[in-house]
Amino acid sequence: MSYDWDAIIIGGGPAGSTVARYAAKAGAKILVIDRREEIGKPLQCGELVPTNKELKQLCPNVPDIDDLFQTPDEAISRFTNTMGIVSPSGKRLEYPFEGQILNRPIHDQKLVQLAKNEGAQYSTKSRVNDVIDNEVILKNGEHISSKIIVGCGGPHDILRKKFWDESSLNIAVNFVLMDGNFEDRVDLFFGSVAPGGYAWMIPKKGGANIGIGIQTKFSKNKSLNQRAESFFRKFEGEITYKGGGVLPMSGTITNFVKGNYMLVGDSAGMVLPSNGAGITTAMTGGRIAGQAIGNYINHGIPISDYQKNWNKQMGIEMKYSKRGIWWGGLMFRSPDWLINTGFNRVTKSLIWRAITCKPMFGLF
Ligand SMILES: Cc1cc2nc3c(=O)[nH]c(=O)nc-3n(C[C@H](O)[C@H](O)[C@H](O)COP(=O)(O)OP(=O)(O)OC[C@H]3O[C@@H](n4cnc5c(N)ncnc54)[C@H](O)[C@@H]3O)c2cc1C
Repeated sequence: MSYDWDAIIIGGGPAGSTVARYAAKAGAKILVIDRREEIGKPLQCGELVPTNKELKQLCPNVPDIDDLFQTPDEAISRFTNTMGIVSPSGKRLEYPFEGQILNRPIHDQKLVQLAKNEGAQYSTKSRVNDVIDNEVILKNGEHISSKIIVGCGGPHDILRKKFWDESSLNIAVNFVLMDGNFEDRVDLFFGSVAPGGYAWMIPKKGGANIGIGIQTKFSKNKSLNQRAESFFRKFEGEITYKGGGVLPMSGTITNFVKGNYMLVGDSAGMVLPSNGAGITTAMTGGRIAGQAIGNYINHGIPISDYQKNWNKQMGIEMKYSKRGIWWGGLMFRSPDWLINTGFNRVTKSLIWRAITCKPMFGLF
């Protein structure tokens, strides 16, 4: 059979554009379809990622980090070298952490450009309404066929919804951009300020990205909006932007591949649940998936190799991140006074190990 494309990728965010980049580099004929006019806008992100140097330590099995993450200067708002974990009483545990705070819309546009440079084509302002066999059906009624279809549509991906019978815990998130002077340190806040989740203050150039994510089942008496308003009021500055979204926090799903369908990024649950990192993991999965598409098109190697290679590169971190959020689940059920006592010099390294996806007690 002949198809219009080797692979159609639904969604051109960090996952989709990275799949496109590496699959096109391997010679595959790639079409990315995205409903947005400009990919990356509107902003739905805290915009924090580790530097490449930090990532090499956090994810030691991911090869060629500098090739994958080529973040240009104009996509970086600011750097930081400290992360604070703040207890309900305001006690702060500080950790060295080399992070870069992005200008996410520019970052995502640069990823699109990298994919286009390899020959991938984009169709924007174009929504995929359905997928049937080897065809995607667009909102305008157009049918387009492809050997492989990749779902990179984020937490509500259409391919995932239709063909995967597996649910994920999605945390609702509100955030703002605020002008003002903020310390050169990322702060994460835990306890009743953000039941079942956490809140953040991530400094940017001339301001900050401030947000909060909660699980509604732990916040019976107040809505996310109410909690967000009172959290934002703790900071001084003018709000210049308000946004929201959902973070999938269950970790990876069981199977990334079904027949000729693949899921990558948030659609496959690649956000590390113990710290909310989803950009770098989506791109890591995107490179592996893109290379798998290339290997299938060029050598007939099954695309299921994608999941095997993900497990080799990110399996350990995902395993310990899921375990870390299990410990977090105990914390979510605890009153503030108990969480306060749990923030001390003895637990300091355990907390950091849970957040950075390391075994907390030696091997476990
Ligand atoms: C408020 C918030 C704050 C966050 N903060 C951070 C952070 O600080 N650091 C971090 O690492 N991660 C953060 N994340 C997570 C991170 O944003 C995601 O993990 C990451 O964007 C996943 O990339 P993706 O490509 O899988 O999905 P997305 O970036 O969501 O891209 C999906 C794309 O698919 C398109 N699409 C969806 N459905 C269709 C359709 N039917 N037809 C056509 N196009 C479609 C969308 O328009 C979109 O462009 C945050 C998430 C949220 C919501």
